[in-house]
Amino acid sequence: MVMQIPITRSSSDFLIWAATRDGILTTKSAYHFICHQLQVGRPSSSLGCDRDGLWRDIWKLKSIPRCKDMAWRICHGFLPTTQCLARRGVQLEPVCPMCGEDEESIAHALIFCPQVSPIWFMSSLSMNFSGPQPDNFTMEHWLASLLDQGDDWVTDKVLTLLYAVWARRNLWVFYHRWLTMEQTLIRVAAMEVVALDSSVGDAHDLLRGERQDKWKGPAVGIAKINTDAAFKAGAAVGMGMVVRNAAGEVLASASGKRGGADSAAVAEAMALRWSLELALDMGFQAVVVETDCAVLHGAWNVAASDRSYMAAVIRDCVDLSRLFRSFEFLLIHRTANLVADFLAKFALSSFCNVWLEEYPPGLEGILISDVSSSSS
Ligand SMILES: [Zn+2]
Repeated sequence: MVMQIPITRSSSDFLIWAATRDGILTTKSAYHFICHQLQVGRPSSSLGCDRDGLWRDIWKLKSIPRCKDMAWRICHGFLPTTQCLARRGVQLEPVCPMCGEDEESIAHALIFCPQVSPIWFMSSLSMNFSGPQPDNFTMEHWLASLLDQGDDWVTDKVLTLLYAVWARRNLWVFYHRWLTMEQTLIRVAAMEVVALDSSVGDAHDLLRGERQDKWKGPAVGIAKINTDAAFKAGAAVGMGMVVRNAAGEVLASASGKRGGADSAAVAEAMALRWSLELALDMGFQAVVVETDCAVLHGAWNVAASDRSYMAAVIRDCVDLSRLFRSFEFLLIHRTANLVADFLAKFALSSFCNVWLEEYPPGLEGILISDVSSSSS
């Protein structure tokens, strides 16, 4: 068949890229080319069967679909690292674009690159991958051994981190935007909030079809504090607080984590106490504090005879509230407390921080929606 192809003799030889119609190399076409080549050349060996089994295990996880998809691509070697592209005949230096030190294998790009391995150590997984990649290390076997351990929490974290690390690499390669390791971890936490949303039980008695209240700005000169807790039986309590002014501008936001709550209401009380402490530390003097927990709001005038832990926490809150120049405590509907809700879940996904005049990524949409509803 090859012999039948007519050869043009009129012009000199030049390189063309066969995977696009115009012969010009694009990253996208290179990626699809590699995927196709790997699929075509994939033997139905025992390794292939293992991969299928591994993939079935990954697919069963409750992780974010795009993270699972990423794991599948890793297991099949379908990530267009410079080394993979070079091996497939693409004319480029196979050097890692992040560190410039080594060839960019998949394991290097995602784990062993010196610009990446500290992220694994700084994460809640505290995995130490410093030093060169061991000769016998493969991503596939590493993921398989992780799944064998059967700890879905760990596997979930690993898949999310792999995704975030690769996204960070692409942000640099394609857009020349460099995310620090800490910024990457904040993004990981924001991604995990999305995953948590479906699994965290809510402390609120939310009736379907209830009217959708929205956040309202405080009077000028007053700081409005919204507080919330994310409670999951047997796990830590996530706490969120946000301070906004009359214009809806964020003066401060925070995510925190504590252990030791035995009910959702106690978790809410802990979040309130923590929010009041922070607000006092940050110097807010005239505040309106909002919770969406009716039990907490109703328990404010706690009886002196109540010796429960919940009562003790509320007494702390009452004491703290007297330190403000003006203080008001309101019950609001859950739909008016979405920012604090987000921040509480954000804390559970491992990242705790206090932001002054700032907030973590992922919140913009809710903040804008709150302001537009408050001014209408
Ligand atoms: Zn590197």
